[in-house]
Amino acid sequence: MHIIIFGAPGVGKGTQAKILAAKLNIAHISTGDILREAIQKGSETGLKAKAIVESGGLVPDDIMGGIIKETLKEDRCRNGYILDGFPRTIAQAKILTEIFDELGVHEIYLIKLDAADEVIVSRLTNRLVCSKCGNIIVNTNYSSSYVCPVCHQIDSYLKRKDDDEEVIRRRLLVYHETTSPVFNYYTDKAIIFEINGTESIEVITDNIINKLQGS
Ligand code: AMP
Repeated sequence: MHIIIFGAPGVGKGTQAKILAAKLNIAHISTGDILREAIQKGSETGLKAKAIVESGGLVPDDIMGGIIKETLKEDRCRNGYILDGFPRTIAQAKILTEIFDELGVHEIYLIKLDAADEVIVSRLTNRLVCSKCGNIIVNTNYSSSYVCPVCHQIDSYLKRKDDDEEVIRRRLLVYHETTSPVFNYYTDKAIIFEINGTESIEVITDNIINKLQGS
């Protein structure tokens, strides 16, 4: 199965993509995670991307196209994948169409998660990410004795550098201006489901699975 999970930053794409990938036995490909890893390692791509990611801008399409082309050819993608954070521009969507044609992928699902900007700003300003396993919590009462419910590490949660309110507002602006039009590109290319992203994590997963099973 080949799925694109689409929506504004902070709408819950990463959380749902992780759950769906495990349930459907497909790879979770997050371009944000790939970039953060490259930045941490200090690779050539990481050095080029660091300032852009931290200020909430978009990494150039040629770099992102190269990353996704290489990644989708990896063995772990053989059974299908869920793309989280790609494509974010029309140019990236066109690159993806070329890759799908090359790989013979013809059936694509696009799941769009919806939530109002203010819900997203409130969520992201309170979002913490486990530095060990990547689990996300939205927690205003975090303390150093907190144990990660997924990997059981103590005091491992950090705020992402781009989860600062000013940067969040910039990322939302970039989403509305540049990424949101990508949705229209898929109206005749994918099976589309629009899902309310303000429900609980479990309800959202159930709604997505029901749609996928009913299609
Ligand atoms: P995310 O974790 O998906 O919110 O991505 C974090 C940041 O990585 C974004 O705000 C961008 O700076 C960068 N990024 C991730 N995916 C892409 C992409 N497809 N195109 C350009 N920049 C990206």
